[in-house]
Amino acid sequence: MNKDAYLNYLKQRKSSRKVNYYLMSLKELEEIKASYDRKPRMLVHACCAVCASFPLEFLSQTFDVTIFFNNSNIWPKAEYDRRLEELRRYLRETGMEIPVITVPYDNDAYMKPLEPMKDDPEGFGRCFFCYAVRMNQAYTWAEEHGFDFFTTVMSISRQKDSQKINEIGRSLSRLHPSVRYFYSDFKKGGGQVRQKELCDTHDLYRQDYCGCIYSWKSTHPDQDLPES
Ligand code: SF4
Repeated sequence: MNKDAYLNYLKQRKSSRKVNYYLMSLKELEEIKASYDRKPRMLVHACCAVCASFPLEFLSQTFDVTIFFNNSNIWPKAEYDRRLEELRRYLRETGMEIPVITVPYDNDAYMKPLEPMKDDPEGFGRCFFCYAVRMNQAYTWAEEHGFDFFTTVMSISRQKDSQKINEIGRSLSRLHPSVRYFYSDFKKGGGQVRQKELCDTHDLYRQDYCGCIYSWKSTHPDQDLPES
């Protein structure tokens, strides 16, 4: 890892010159509501029920939402299955009729390009790559299936840099011009408070690591690996 690049990134993260993606999303919603005579179709990348809870409630007021669950970063497979099932339970319990698209789970193939970055601190290069891969796969699917919009729920997490996620979204929108990227910062505007209410009400499983084996090891330094 390039230490200077990491220190520069941390400095820039503290800077006050940040885009307010929450305000941007509100403005966009006004414009979208005025320009469509139907609910536009939106594909939403979701990583787990906890992160998806509030964004789905918020987005489904304006959009005809479909979820894309492509999270082969999650290790082990039992954990992947648990997060996916928890998302489905949340949808059943809330009565939100939102389809969930999944892709085949392949953690070995997914992690290969991330291996050279295994020693990166969480929330830096390896993670940016990981956000971009999953977002691009979902964005591509949205384009192939004629969606109007694409976004990800990941900006709700305090551990994830919303500026970076939205910059990735902006870059990907140039590769997939027929689908508009919806900028977001779901943690703002009371999003995290509502997220907590929803998680408590539905007793959602709150995992204690982001997803990959590296993040598992960093939060369980003294434990043996569980069976994969
Ligand atoms: S910590 Fe999370 S975002 Fe970072 S590489 Fe692992 S699974 Fe991906």
